[in-house]
Amino acid sequence: MDGFAVHAADLADCSPERPARLKVVGDIPAGRADNLKVHRGEAARIMTGALLPEGADAVVPVENTNHHYRDPGMKAPEEVEVLQGVKSGDYLRLKGQDLHAGEVVLKKGKKLKPQDVGVLSMLGEAEAPVIKKPRAAVFSTGDELLPVEMRLTPGKIHDSNSYVLSALVEMAGGTPINLGIVEDKPEAVKHTLDRAVELEADVIISSAGVSVGAFDYVRKVIESEGELDFWRVNMRPGKPVAFGSYRGVRLFGLPGNPVSAFVGFEVFIRPALSRMAGWDEWHREIRKVVVTEPIGSDGRESYLRAIIRQEPAGYSARLAGHQGSGNLRALAEANALIVIPAGVTFLPAGSEVDAWLLGELGS
Ligand code: AMP
Ligand code: MG
Repeated sequence: MDGFAVHAADLADCSPERPARLKVVGDIPAGRADNLKVHRGEAARIMTGALLPEGADAVVPVENTNHHYRDPGMKAPEEVEVLQGVKSGDYLRLKGQDLHAGEVVLKKGKKLKPQDVGVLSMLGEAEAPVIKKPRAAVFSTGDELLPVEMRLTPGKIHDSNSYVLSALVEMAGGTPINLGIVEDKPEAVKHTLDRAVELEADVIISSAGVSVGAFDYVRKVIESEGELDFWRVNMRPGKPVAFGSYRGVRLFGLPGNPVSAFVGFEVFIRPALSRMAGWDEWHREIRKVVVTEPIGSDGRESYLRAIIRQEPAGYSARLAGHQGSGNLRALAEANALIVIPAGVTFLPAGSEVDAWLLGELGS
């Protein structure tokens, strides 16, 4: 505190009516380390952040003295009257108050928060070993796609996947490189994969062109020019997902439907990127929720868009609108994906399932 460094014992029974009078023997701004000693009956004016002088054991705030003028530049008085006493140790910050030698302050595998950067600075650690963020090249394939800033013409839709996936990459600890829209042609796909490698991507994420359409070239190109580890997973949505590598770079081929691409990212890519980024948290928060309506499924592991709420007895979940895999609006309104396990075709109301949290919980 801005005030006076004192011996608390000198102020044992002072009051506004009977102030204690102390001789001011020094003036200590923050940042100075003077050789000053405060004896009994003495005080030194002191500023917040200054080093306590030898002898003193407490600070009286200026507000509790007759020297409470607030103007900067005021000289220290020769004497001060203290109107209210303090206990030994009052208004002091002790060395090592929040931290002791040998204590661990930051653990490996944690994402550095701004306040962690503060702790490193406080300790004088100018450098800390960190893991480079994985670079993820993202692109959308499809001759129907136009970038968001272009006006639609018949037959066209706006690309949303490259933007959603780029934002997800960032959230999962990676650096996105958005390569935009790529034509439904094998040469165009190959050219883009080459660009991703040249741009030193650690991961490549494509959307669309991995299904069984006559123009779905992405999987073909991975198969012929790279390596395809697997294609198609028994899940809903997102079944035609492909995984492999191209010129040594890991490659995820997501389906084109916006909800399928999103779910594919959550199931396969978020864990991969988070682990590559060195984080030990690699999935969304999971809660047990009780469904408030009966839900039919087709036996595949299913990720349904839901709105979950905290109720007195726990969490409830209801489906968020139409579950079509092209319905981005319901996905945007959902605050969770609920997971219907494989093999389940009917879930009665009241059943408990896992929910992956996507946003804020309503109450
Ligand atoms: P595909 O995986 O190529 O069969 O595409 C499946 C559906 O997703 C089609 O209706 C596409 O028009 C749509 N789609 C594909 N890519 C995108 C994208 N980047 N943004 C929005 N919709 C897309
Ligand atoms: Mg297509």
